[in-house]
Amino acid sequence: MLIDSYGRKIDYLRISVTDRCNLRCIYCMPQAGIIHKPQSKLLSFEEIARVVEIMSALGVEKIRLTGGEPLLRKGVVDLVKSLSGIKGISDISMTTNGILLKEYASALKQAGLKRLNISLDSLHQERYSLVTRQGKLERVLEGIEQAQNAGISPIKINVLLLDGMSVDEIMDFLRVSIENSLHVRFLEFMPVNSFYKIDNFISARDVIDIARKCFALEDAAIYGNGPAEVFKIKNALGTFGVISPMSSKFCFKCNRLRLSSDGFLKPCLHSELKMNLRVLLRSSASDDDLAEVIKSAAAEKPKEHNLDKGEFLFSDYSMCQIGG
Ligand code: SAM
Ligand code: SF4
Repeated sequence: MLIDSYGRKIDYLRISVTDRCNLRCIYCMPQAGIIHKPQSKLLSFEEIARVVEIMSALGVEKIRLTGGEPLLRKGVVDLVKSLSGIKGISDISMTTNGILLKEYASALKQAGLKRLNISLDSLHQERYSLVTRQGKLERVLEGIEQAQNAGISPIKINVLLLDGMSVDEIMDFLRVSIENSLHVRFLEFMPVNSFYKIDNFISARDVIDIARKCFALEDAAIYGNGPAEVFKIKNALGTFGVISPMSSKFCFKCNRLRLSSDGFLKPCLHSELKMNLRVLLRSSASDDDLAEVIKSAAAEKPKEHNLDKGEFLFSDYSMCQIGG
């Protein structure tokens, strides 16, 4: 079992399968000048599966594929299939921008994908294309519909609380959770890169206050809540929730490690610590050698981030490289 030095049990691995993306969200990627990792440095599916097998023997049960945009990685459905066959892995999920979901939803479900998080920061095409710089909202909506038809459940919609977001837009997303069997999650913005800053922070509390003013709320829980505080509006088909890494940090219950697409294991998104598994995977290191490095990554997990105290770390791994 993987237990860190603060007694937290680590049973969840987030794997970034690519640092490439088909969008350029203003808060995540600069418009141009991005230098991608060369193909030769990306972990192969066999290498990823080996890491997951070793980690599952150490107690990891849940895997999330992310990116960059995970659906851009060629053969990602085969990866889902291979990981879902690993003993001890009970839950495989993905975070995607949904642009390619229409094409992949059914195959992902058949391959063993259990859950989906789809990032969607606006329900209005004009604002959606401003935020993503190039996204077509219609494609994401079609992708969500296809994922529902394919039977993937639960489906969560991740909404980042961005500067300039209107109360109207928050209300529109709340209505999505009323009218559909979808689970909307409002995420507080984290200052994790140097090229995008916000002036007006919208907190999780602001969202709950807006919702309470208009609707009767009940506490709710669905599988895979993670750090979200979740509510159900009376008679709603879905739920809504807030994730508040800034205003009410949940590091004390963090249960995850992260693997970058080029094979670095990171104990925390907000720490410079990283272990190069790629070099070990491509050497004569045994599974036991890898397990020791993985255990040391868990042991070195920092107690908490200090973003709320104004300590921002603009590290060599951005959100689009290590995955949100
Ligand atoms: N491309 C996929 C997508 O957009 O869902 C997966 C990768 S993306 C980096 C994962 C999530 O990170 C998205 O939901 C995005 O909104 C979130 N994210 C990116 N930058 C963030 C930030 N500064 N603060 C909070 N969440 C952020
Ligand atoms: Fe791409 Fe996701 Fe980053 Fe947007 S948030 S640029 S979709 S990786």
